[in-house]
Amino acid sequence: MERDLSFIERVEVTPTAASFRFSRPRDLDFVAGQYMLVEVGPGLIHPLSLSDCPAERGFVEFTKRMTGSAYCERLLALKSGERIKVRGPQGSFVVSDRDGGLVFIVGGIGITPIRSILKEMVATGAAPTGMLLLYGNRDREDIAFADELAALSLPGFRMVNVLEDPAGMAGAWQGFISPEIIREEVADLPGRLFMVSGPPVMVKAVGAGLASLGVDEGRVRTDVFAGYE
Ligand SMILES: Cc1cc2nc3c(=O)[nH]c(=O)nc-3n(C[C@H](O)[C@H](O)[C@H](O)COP(=O)(O)OP(=O)(O)OC[C@H]3O[C@@H](n4cnc5c(N)ncnc54)[C@H](O)[C@@H]3O)c2cc1C
Repeated sequence: MERDLSFIERVEVTPTAASFRFSRPRDLDFVAGQYMLVEVGPGLIHPLSLSDCPAERGFVEFTKRMTGSAYCERLLALKSGERIKVRGPQGSFVVSDRDGGLVFIVGGIGITPIRSILKEMVATGAAPTGMLLLYGNRDREDIAFADELAALSLPGFRMVNVLEDPAGMAGAWQGFISPEIIREEVADLPGRLFMVSGPPVMVKAVGAGLASLGVDEGRVRTDVFAGYE
């Protein structure tokens, strides 16, 4: 279904990412983890995950890595009240009440569906215990929603940062998310459900890493942010 949404505001998230909030029609429902096709002008259409949670009724939000593309320039030029077109929601990168032992493995802006899932769990109070977020970024400044995620009130939840440059970030691993880091951080590998989200190269590398650790393919769900290197 196609709808018009009205632009409300932009919120800076990191030096290279921003959230864009739009009016939420009363009948627009979605499941945390889904995305929409967001058209900001002629020929300017991208799939973007809904980065806030369904329980947030005041607006819908998309968080975009800012690349200087024509699409980003158009987003930046939006004026309050201006209308854009969206289609959806769609996508099956979601969790159900039956899913336990969740490990989220995220590269950069791939955090958007995971943030929605985690915020929804806080809002509804329905959360499995002992979830882990392994979150890879370039450096400390690049970690979208860092403070908010670190402060999430979820039973036994842990966030572990993996940074190419970990300067100023106590407790972070240095480098990319690797099988060695996964093995160190994740207890009971075979019993876990992995949700992997990020650019294609990262999702592929993590998938291969999980396979090398003997994780069954059926215990890995992926959200590939096609369009990034
Ligand atoms: C399910 C899904 C959810 C996503 N959620 C987010 C999100 O929450 N936040 C976010 O920042 N990005 C998200 N993306 C990626 C987003 O849709 C864009 O592809 C990406 O942001 C690049 O757009 P750009 O405007 O920066 O660059 P552009 O210049 O528009 O694109 C960069 C290059 O990638 C190619 N390309 C662009 N989009 C696609 C595509 N969908 N498939 C294949 N090639 C493509 C272009 O032709 C160009 O060569 C998501 C992608 C998918 C598939």
